[in-house]
Amino acid sequence: MRFTILVLTALCAAAYAADEPILGYDEASSAEQREAEVLFDASIDAQEMDGWLKHMSSKPHHVGSPKSKENAEYMAELFESWGYDTEIAEYRILLPTPRVREVELLSPTQYTATLREDSLEEDPSTFVRDDLLAPYNAFSIDGEAEGELVFVNYGIPEDYEVLEQYGIDVRGKIAIAKYGRSWRGIKPKLAGEKGAIATIIYSDPIDDGYGAGDTYPKGPFKHESGVQRGSVMDMPTYPGDVLTPGRGATRNARRLDRNDAPTITKIPVLPISQRDALPLLAALDGEVVPPEWRGGLPITYHFGPGPARVRMRAQFDWNMVTAYNVIARLRGSEYPDEWVIRGNHHDGWNHGAADPISGMVATLAEAKAVATLAREGRRPKRTMIYAAWDAEEPGLIGSTEWAEHHAADLKEHAVAYINTDGSDRGFINIGGSHVLERFFNQVIEEVDDPRSDITLKERRRAYELIYGDDKAKQTAEERNDLRIFPMGSGSDYTPFLQHLGIASAHVNFGGEANDGSYHTLYDTYEHYTTFQDPGLMYGATLAKVTGRAALRLANAPRLPFEFTGFADNVALYVSELQELAETMREETEKTNKLIDEGTYAAAINPYKSISVPAKKEPVPHFNFAPLKNALDRLQKAAAQFDAAADGTTDVSSRINNLLYTSERLLTRDAGLDGRSWYKHHIYAPGFYTGYGVKTIPGVREAIEEREYDQVASQIAIAASVLNTMAARIEDLSERIGGD
Ligand SMILES: [Zn+2]
Repeated sequence: MRFTILVLTALCAAAYAADEPILGYDEASSAEQREAEVLFDASIDAQEMDGWLKHMSSKPHHVGSPKSKENAEYMAELFESWGYDTEIAEYRILLPTPRVREVELLSPTQYTATLREDSLEEDPSTFVRDDLLAPYNAFSIDGEAEGELVFVNYGIPEDYEVLEQYGIDVRGKIAIAKYGRSWRGIKPKLAGEKGAIATIIYSDPIDDGYGAGDTYPKGPFKHESGVQRGSVMDMPTYPGDVLTPGRGATRNARRLDRNDAPTITKIPVLPISQRDALPLLAALDGEVVPPEWRGGLPITYHFGPGPARVRMRAQFDWNMVTAYNVIARLRGSEYPDEWVIRGNHHDGWNHGAADPISGMVATLAEAKAVATLAREGRRPKRTMIYAAWDAEEPGLIGSTEWAEHHAADLKEHAVAYINTDGSDRGFINIGGSHVLERFFNQVIEEVDDPRSDITLKERRRAYELIYGDDKAKQTAEERNDLRIFPMGSGSDYTPFLQHLGIASAHVNFGGEANDGSYHTLYDTYEHYTTFQDPGLMYGATLAKVTGRAALRLANAPRLPFEFTGFADNVALYVSELQELAETMREETEKTNKLIDEGTYAAAINPYKSISVPAKKEPVPHFNFAPLKNALDRLQKAAAQFDAAADGTTDVSSRINNLLYTSERLLTRDAGLDGRSWYKHHIYAPGFYTGYGVKTIPGVREAIEEREYDQVASQIAIAASVLNTMAARIEDLSERIGGD
């Protein structure tokens, strides 16, 4: 019942949302902006996008390939023809490509992995194999290894706890791990730390093959020969060119020696298909794995190690190649020194229709529509920069090098960075800086879902209420704004947000077209337009969302940064941290007690080689008071700003500058402990999760990693960052009040 009432209220809210002024705008400027948006929408042409998609994904186009350069030149010409001031920014980067790839089962049976994906009659693109990169993991070290095989499930930290309990040591062995549950680079990183000599990663059919749905070409899921390519560079340490951390990889940049580059893996790693994995896994013996570890292959899954013996060899050509970033500028009519930046990468691992061209063509459509408005006398007031990044796939390299190269200018001028990447269909996903949460909520209150007559926000809210976990359901019921998710890593926003402290967002559609084409030969135009976004309806809608966001930022009299949403999300993170410490303390106590009292030993099956887990160091109580005091101040300051800013849109450029540079205050020059490239202290990718975000990462990781002596100092650092932000917000309220 409550649900019905809330949805009705929400629907009414959506109906008059468009009568309320846009955040940062007064009534007159809102009306003018919305008029422009109607014209903007009318120039988004899904058919034209489809043509670009077909053209740019007709051949493999990884960085360093002829097609990647050709696509960059093609887009540069488009931007130029629309009136953008366009350049192709080149960087010299190290890129390993595969030379030798061998995986061989030596005993007790013999099998040589094919390491090759099948061409399929039903998909002509899969026969276009010139310049196709064979399946590999970029930034694996060169190497050859021979040893017993051991199954490590997903190869994440909790899997090694299970192995330990079973008395299984991976030292001197070759670890085979499933793709999934973590960023892929974590698997060889952890296996190496545990002493394995090599890692093989395969896609289990239970996750994205026949265990999940019909496989390609009948359905969208992974063909039995499909292999996920991808980078295993240690991006949680720093992304970008491995030889030039912290500086642009210009021709004459100072470079590390390759042997000193810390982000190349320590052990060799190769990815294989389920078809190649089957004989290897079938040859394993030892204990049967626990139920949660089983996959979808028609075998009984064993841990090993052995008797399967495997030899693996991986060798790469370590070449310097040129990355081509297309940078297109439209000078702002009133505030040319304030930049709104939009970006999407253009390189793929192969044909890359979904990843990244689906997002790239939405970006192009948006840029063309913005240029059309400009020609018709509605030139954006701030400078807009459209970027098509190269070399994202091997490690966010194109965007990172450009951001590092222009760091000083970007810190001074960048108002915000909005990213897109591969996108399909379903529900709107927005991640990013929470100072933009209210702003983005307002945008999705005004764009309709292309398949229904409700707004994107209502459709997303319905998703949360039906499919969300308890927390998500509660938020959707009680909170007016949908939360935007905090960002870890995985696309080109990382250098802008986490290295430079530029307020950033990432936008896509998803949830209804899950598939297994990611980074395989089957990420083609045919696959994408059949299964992922037929007619590019959601692609066109994506352009409307990001275009609105970019234009509203570019034209806002008062920049639409807002702090109550930010404070509310920080409050959530602080309470999560306390809960984390509490839960860990209780669980550790309980487990240690069960071990001491012999309960574990009494319950264990004596016919299995499983042992009692090791006791863990008790979790002490931590003093969260400094963080909670800073949070109180932040919440008060945010509310005060809300009151002061209400109805005040005519502000000085000094105030706008203080608004958009506020995100910079969440960074510290020293960066995070042990990985100084990452400066942001509210959002970071997890050191042991990869893409997955860690909020208030200094404190969270100290607790999770059980580095208890670090927790107090990390709390002090996080509190000081929040206090600095609160002081800025207080200053802004005073200035706006006095304006
Ligand atoms: Zn991508």
